[in-house]
Amino acid sequence: MKSDYRIIKLKALQDNYIWIIHNRQYAVVVDPSVADIVQDFLSDNSLELIGVLLTHNHIDHNGGVRQLQELYPDVKVHNYLGRHLMENEVEFNYGFKFKIIATPGHVDDHLCYLFENKHLFCGDTLFSFGCGRVFSGDFVAAYTSLEKLKSLPTNTLCYPAHEYTWNNLQFTLLTDNNSDYYADIKEQIASRLHDTGCSLPVALSDELRYNLFLRCDDLAVQNMIADKTQQVIGDGLECFVALRELRNNF
Ligand SMILES: [Zn+2]
Repeated sequence: MKSDYRIIKLKALQDNYIWIIHNRQYAVVVDPSVADIVQDFLSDNSLELIGVLLTHNHIDHNGGVRQLQELYPDVKVHNYLGRHLMENEVEFNYGFKFKIIATPGHVDDHLCYLFENKHLFCGDTLFSFGCGRVFSGDFVAAYTSLEKLKSLPTNTLCYPAHEYTWNNLQFTLLTDNNSDYYADIKEQIASRLHDTGCSLPVALSDELRYNLFLRCDDLAVQNMIADKTQQVIGDGLECFVALRELRNNF
């Protein structure tokens, strides 16, 4: 589509973000947890909702869908019900096209959506400085999903569904004693949060550099986690499992 689009965020519930992509006329919404907030934004800005993208089946992501379908009977909803096995992109009217990336792990059916090869709506798979809990129990899948996201162009912008950044950063600083390494990014995040209350989106290049969950194949990180947990860490996957366990107990 023409580059004349905007991506905006709506805050919902305690720390959720609802992301909206629009071209001043039509809009697609990602994970509308609450319908009223979306509806207000659309009507304040004279936008027509044409599409809904759902990353996964948790109520703080899909809670507003039914109400939006009643308000906009023609809206097309793309969800996670096994469709990703057959499809690798979803296209709405007016040129809104998204690449689908299956990212099981947080739950078995989790999808990420990539827009314009640049903007990644990653739900609860990837957070800034963190990743989603592995509710599925399938750590291999969760690790593989993160590897998949790591292979995207480094200038990709990531739009997670929660504002967990500051908390995740505190966990990172507690886990990695090399606090100098994080000094600059910590200052950037602090001022962003102070100015706008929001730390997102975040560049994949920064996540590759600072997010421990994306650095599990780094020997230095493996040694750090082995030290912390007094476990033998033999590879990236073992490091990821141990790190996720640490984070669960943080
Ligand atoms: Zn979730």
